[in-house]
Amino acid sequence: TSPLDVAKIRDDFPILNTQSASGRPLVYFDNAATTQRPNAVIDAMSRCYREYYSNVHRGIHTLSEASTGAYENARATVASFMNASTTSEVVFAAGTTAAINTVARSWGDQNLSSGDVILLLISEHHANIVPWHQLAERVGCRVEFIAINDDFLIDDEAVASAIQTHQPKLFAFGAASNTLGTEYPVKRWTQLAHDVGATVLIDAAQAAPHWQLDVQDWGADFVVFSGHKVCGPTGIGVLWGRESLLDSMPPFLGGGGMIDTVTTDGFTSHSLPEKFEAGTPPIVEAIGLEAAVKYLLQIGMDNIHAHERQLGSRADAGLREIAGVRVIGPTPKHKGGINSFVVEGVHAHDVSQFLDGQGVAVRAGHHCTMPLHNAIGVSATSRASCYFYNTIDEVDVFLQAVSDVRDRFAKTGRRRRSRESRS
Ligand code: PMP
Repeated sequence: TSPLDVAKIRDDFPILNTQSASGRPLVYFDNAATTQRPNAVIDAMSRCYREYYSNVHRGIHTLSEASTGAYENARATVASFMNASTTSEVVFAAGTTAAINTVARSWGDQNLSSGDVILLLISEHHANIVPWHQLAERVGCRVEFIAINDDFLIDDEAVASAIQTHQPKLFAFGAASNTLGTEYPVKRWTQLAHDVGATVLIDAAQAAPHWQLDVQDWGADFVVFSGHKVCGPTGIGVLWGRESLLDSMPPFLGGGGMIDTVTTDGFTSHSLPEKFEAGTPPIVEAIGLEAAVKYLLQIGMDNIHAHERQLGSRADAGLREIAGVRVIGPTPKHKGGINSFVVEGVHAHDVSQFLDGQGVAVRAGHHCTMPLHNAIGVSATSRASCYFYNTIDEVDVFLQAVSDVRDRFAKTGRRRRSRESRS
């Protein structure tokens, strides 16, 4: 049984009580792409705009003080959500992608050079690949990948041996794969990389929504995530970095807010975290993110994880029983609420469109993990990703719809060209 009162939780999310375009109840299973927002988030943002919105850190008028206070309170709440030891380490960025690019430009340009190695997992999201390819083009370093085995897993030995072989300067990996659903042992792998003196960046985009983040326990050097995947707004995310490391890095974006002094000859940087927050920051988004993480904490990260693991394992088992369906991912023991799959003879886009007609929203494509799809030898998959507000009944609606897919498409044999799909 689930530790959550899901019926009560669903009342907090207006969109979950809407109907799909097909006129059926909406089954929202695209949570790995983005989550939905509870009233607590929508109301907190709307209250700010209605009652105390102003720019931060600039004016000394009452409204500016109110919004500055709220913005800094949001930072303190997010710091405690991640168990950061100080708010100086919590930089608001536009999202995971922006945070990783900031590290690549600032820390990467300063610390990597020709012959150095950046080590990644083959399951990385493009956001944790492309900035490193770009860095490699700039400074001449190399990007290496750790492969998955036939069970879609990466074991400790493979990680340890890649680290020994490549002696990377940076080991950057997703705490959980947005395609395979695999949850990786963040603390152990961080330790293995630290043993050879590597810096470690954790892409927690698929972890922050589901497990208790603990940057001090993990021991990594950078941890990043996005607001919109934790029931918060788009346009905001977090770059957490070890204080001494952030202190030693040059600012990436220059402009207002990030300086101490500016003269006709140059500038000096502000202290942390403002040094990395040039320009007007995402003020209302930070307030929304605070409301979101408070909402998650009130439900309880352990409860969230337990509930979605139940849904995920039921979906996994059900998919494996349907003839012609192949699950692209490890067994439930190793993953959370994400299940990617292919239906023999039917393109993933057709699967997704058929499911949409049944009211079930799933993602189709490469989910921004092309190297992983190439390694597996499939060009596209369908992905069902659930969250704490989903129900077992919804999993059953989804499974019924998938089992109907083949009957429908076996007759027509339609194919669709692969399109770029964001995740
Ligand atoms: N990393 C992972 C593992 C993700 O799942 C995503 C979003 N799909 C990202 C990075 C990129 O996040 P954003 O688009 O919010 O910057």
